[in-house]
Amino acid sequence: MCYPRVEINLVKIRNNTKKLVELCNENNIDVVGVTKVFCGKTKIVREMIKGGIRVIGDSRIENLKRLKRFKLPKLLLRLPMISEVDEVVEYADMSLNSEIATIRQLSKAAKKKDVRHKIILMVDLGDLREGIFDVEELLETVEIMISLDNIDLIGIGTNLTCYGGILPEKENLQQLIDLKQVIRKKYKLNLRVLSGGNSSSLHLVETGDIPTGINQLRLGESIILGRETAFGKEITDTYQDAMILKCEIIEVQNKPSIPIGTIGMDAFGNKPSFEDKGIRRRAICAIGKQDVSASEILPEDGNMKIIGSSSDHLILDVTECNEDYTVGSIVTFTLKYGSVLSLFTSEYVKKVYL
Ligand SMILES: *Cc1c(COP(=O)(O)O)cnc(C)c1O
Repeated sequence: MCYPRVEINLVKIRNNTKKLVELCNENNIDVVGVTKVFCGKTKIVREMIKGGIRVIGDSRIENLKRLKRFKLPKLLLRLPMISEVDEVVEYADMSLNSEIATIRQLSKAAKKKDVRHKIILMVDLGDLREGIFDVEELLETVEIMISLDNIDLIGIGTNLTCYGGILPEKENLQQLIDLKQVIRKKYKLNLRVLSGGNSSSLHLVETGDIPTGINQLRLGESIILGRETAFGKEITDTYQDAMILKCEIIEVQNKPSIPIGTIGMDAFGNKPSFEDKGIRRRAICAIGKQDVSASEILPEDGNMKIIGSSSDHLILDVTECNEDYTVGSIVTFTLKYGSVLSLFTSEYVKKVYL
């Protein structure tokens, strides 16, 4: 057995995907299965496909390249870098875009390879990450795109609750539908995709408030963790523990709760502060900041507390625990979005499929 390890329950992932696909399909919405949070691991992608996703979406072209063998259409989620357009048109069938300069380069690259590249134009509805903010500019971009070789404008989309924390609501998503009408009237162009955001848009589907016409959602977190961050609410009939972290204890000792000596800076340049709780039983796990942020994991044992971490060590307070943790004991944690992301990125953490 190797530790630390993330255990991935493939049946639970498939179940979560199925539930979300059913929910979305009932509302005439297709699901893009977003794979970036687990670095596009093929075993997990396969379960998402069995669960019914229609498109594979990832923010990194490296991941899409590794997923080449899957026949589903692939969508690059992060705006392409101009320096990567050749790979984008080769490994992604479509991409989200907001810059005409990049789209022109995609057009050239697609022409060179003799392929067509599909584009969903991103509209910023107020979250202030990517997307064209100004409507006139959006229409100008559409007009230029129509004349470009080997480029198909297939839809418009938006991304919310990623930077500004702005919630998807009936009102802001309705703007996408209105824009589609404007584009149809002005350019006789019938956009087939209205991509209404990420997992944070699901609450509108659950309550039946998603505006009719939104026909695609791009789901990552909700499939993996059965919830989404904006509301933090668990999604009915899904598992929240499809992925868990297991770490091994390398030291258990009774120690004071305040360090002894003059306090300078810690390893990360912060001046730490401490609360005196007397002598506590402390355990160290062999995992650290290089792999995961201590604030992004939750001990399964409700009596255990995370005290802190350094590059390679995670320190726990086990004083209140009923279980007698010793050196070699294994401790389990449930995960949040940020911890899934970093644990999969760390090559020091084993990935074990159940
Ligand atoms: C990451 C990402 C998603 C998926 O977000 P989740 O919250 O994991 O569902 C969707 N769209 C874009 C553009 C993304 O970058």
